[in-house]
Amino acid sequence: MEVVEALQIVLNTPSILGVERVFWQNAIGRVLAEDIIADHDFPPFNRVMMDGFAFRFNEWQDGRRQFKIGGMLSAGENPKDNYHCDCIEIMTGAMMPNEFDLIVPFEKVFLENGICILPEDLEIKQGHHVHYKGKDYKKNQILIDKGTRITALNLPVITSCGYEYVKVFQLPRIAVISTGDELVEINQQPLPFQIRMSNGPGLTALLQPWGSSCKMFHWRDDLDQMKQSFEQLYDFDILVFSGGVSMGKKDFMPELWKQKGFETLFHRVNQKPGKPLFFGKKDNQILFGLPGNPVSAMSCAMVYVLPLIKNWLGLEYSEIVELAGEIPTHDKLDLFAPTFSHKGKKSCLDYNGSGDLVSFGSANGITWIPKKSQDKNTKQPLVYFPAH
Ligand code: AMP
Ligand code: MG
Repeated sequence: MEVVEALQIVLNTPSILGVERVFWQNAIGRVLAEDIIADHDFPPFNRVMMDGFAFRFNEWQDGRRQFKIGGMLSAGENPKDNYHCDCIEIMTGAMMPNEFDLIVPFEKVFLENGICILPEDLEIKQGHHVHYKGKDYKKNQILIDKGTRITALNLPVITSCGYEYVKVFQLPRIAVISTGDELVEINQQPLPFQIRMSNGPGLTALLQPWGSSCKMFHWRDDLDQMKQSFEQLYDFDILVFSGGVSMGKKDFMPELWKQKGFETLFHRVNQKPGKPLFFGKKDNQILFGLPGNPVSAMSCAMVYVLPLIKNWLGLEYSEIVELAGEIPTHDKLDLFAPTFSHKGKKSCLDYNGSGDLVSFGSANGITWIPKKSQDKNTKQPLVYFPAH
């Protein structure tokens, strides 16, 4: 199977995400599952925008330049019905009393014995420095559409409409299962023929922000034991396995998944790295079988697993990029080139092949480079998949 087809199959998988209500502080980064409706006009009242004095425009038009100051109004105070004077001192954020219709800031006036004097050459406009009720948005209007990701900039709109809890799309419960007899835990000293597992932490770092939970497991290459261990996985929506999907004598995984009732949606893709990639489904569970090689596992997770979740949420999962410097190519396989950004330019990483975990560590994402034979006549745009 080609990458284009495999990616289509992954992206066409219907969403299994429900909806939940979360406290506003836990909603940052989540995707709205409801429209946000204005529960009041914006602004909610005629709001004073400058510290200064409030006047009546018609009095200025009639030629008056000296005004007796008769009161003071601050933000958060209820204005009086009538101030019985020419002007009042007024502060930013106060509700403009109905009898006045313009503000002149403090720095533009002269004061003398309780009289406020407006200079002759001062330009005066009715409604100046007043932000009128409902000018921006009206009550019951949709302010933010369902499907929008919640950010630091739109969250204040949500909370100012009184949504203490907000409906968002649920995130998947993710299980990351590393398989391999050679793997030892982070806090163990590997014997000369063992390694510390790196896929578990890497996949967790990548996927945890996109899951409601992300739990790590380590299974040994023992088919009977694995069959029993499957019981641990019933409560997860996405199973991300790494290792054991290739041609080795102990690569039991595809056999195990078949026995457990998973339908194979694809197995093996014409790509490098990550050729043995497996994708399957059973009822409401999605299964990825990533190759064990750390670079392959992380590349496939960036190109297939993250995009599946982001696509369910209606978010962008890739971008078109131009690469600086040399671009690797392959005659028969689509390449996933580790890519790093420096001073706004993206270029492919120089590294020692797909086992080079350390060099790979300085990448920020993967660029998908279609194989040469595809690329002859048309210059296809390159697609970049970020590692976040
Ligand atoms: P496999 O796909 O199981 O044949 O593994 C391919 C290579 O990836 C082997 O060299 C494994 O030791 C290595 N590998 C598999 N799983 C992990 C892991 N979780 N962390 C680091 N390396 C791994
Ligand atoms: Mg293995």
